[in-house]
Amino acid sequence: MNDKLVTIAKYDTPFEAELAMTYLADCGIKAVLFNEIINSIFPSFAGLKYETELRVNKEDEIIAKEHLININSAYLTENILKESGALLEGHFKLTSGRHSNKYIEKIKIIQNPEKVEIICGHLARILKEFECDVVIGPAYGAIVLGYEVAKQLGKQFAFCQRVDGEMNFRSGFTLRPGMKAIVIEDIVTTGGSVFEVIESLNKKEVEVVAVGLIVDRSGGSVDFNVPTYPLLTLSIESWEPEDCPLCKAGQEITKPGSSDKR
Ligand SMILES: [Zn+2]
Repeated sequence: MNDKLVTIAKYDTPFEAELAMTYLADCGIKAVLFNEIINSIFPSFAGLKYETELRVNKEDEIIAKEHLININSAYLTENILKESGALLEGHFKLTSGRHSNKYIEKIKIIQNPEKVEIICGHLARILKEFECDVVIGPAYGAIVLGYEVAKQLGKQFAFCQRVDGEMNFRSGFTLRPGMKAIVIEDIVTTGGSVFEVIESLNKKEVEVVAVGLIVDRSGGSVDFNVPTYPLLTLSIESWEPEDCPLCKAGQEITKPGSSDKR
């Protein structure tokens, strides 16, 4: 590196900055990171805030910026889920008995608050164009995700849960006719829970204006009749054991937890 470095991007978290640096390295562009301490409004506050700057040689500036555009929400989400251990690759025996090469351990999505903040930040940026009063997350995984999106949008939050087979809200939450809601869910396969949440809100005359998802595993085939934004769309392949190419290749199989059914 020479001394003509230019800053091409700034990140709130080192994770996003390192991901961008690795991405540029894969494109053949050398980049470096600098941590800057941000002046806090509360100077005595123990948690000093850092901002990470991504810098490249001046002559690489334009091409590097073009490459960074390709680091979209899907790329970022996929990498975060892999690093969190939420998106596993290998050879898995599913609860259905079928075999697959990918598996989502969905509780791991919410295990690391820093990563929750990043992925929900991306959802909030996408969803902020919608006028809404409240953000809804169905229990359990999406309570954390819906709460974080609500926080970042500066909106009210409510969660819902299935009681006696029916999706419902605690009576303490303020949900009045005429309110507008955004629904957040972690993973959608058939969309069952989200359909129930929308129905439950419609009964209260609360209008659902958008749905935000971390992962749409349906490959984009679920339609909630409202604008829907998945950060990552996956169609995960699975096979009957006798047709499984991984079995044929002699790859060892694992049986992960049973949290991946929805
Ligand atoms: Zn197999």
